[in-house]
Amino acid sequence: MDKTWQEMYAAAKAVLNARRISDYVTAGEVSAAVLSKSGKIYTGVCIDTCSTLGICAERNAIFSMITAGENEIARVLCIPPVEGKGAPCGACRELMVQLMPDSYKDIEIMLDYSAGKVITLGEITPEWWIDYDRI
Ligand SMILES: [Zn+2]
Repeated sequence: MDKTWQEMYAAAKAVLNARRISDYVTAGEVSAAVLSKSGKIYTGVCIDTCSTLGICAERNAIFSMITAGENEIARVLCIPPVEGKGAPCGACRELMVQLMPDSYKDIEIMLDYSAGKVITLGEITPEWWIDYDRI
């Protein structure tokens, strides 16, 4: 596994901090790191709330990247509550597809850090609606 994946894992691990914020909000059970095309690492944690106001760690990290003025993702890694496989959910995949409609299939996803298994977004999101919308 290359050094960048290790740096992304360390960055995600540093913000992993499961906690209850209020009677209605918990956060930090899952953390994520996104590597932008420029080589910077952005992190995020999941935030769970009543009434579905929360967000996944991956999208939180992507929004941090966008907030910092960047638009392109190279890699995504998440640390789930029980370490193991961590594929992005459908909403996170949808966001990545819409952000990078011409190149989303090249985004690398760390599927299982302990096994060093990397997969592309194209492999786990092969037939997305946007491909047909653009024909
Ligand atoms: Zn998600």
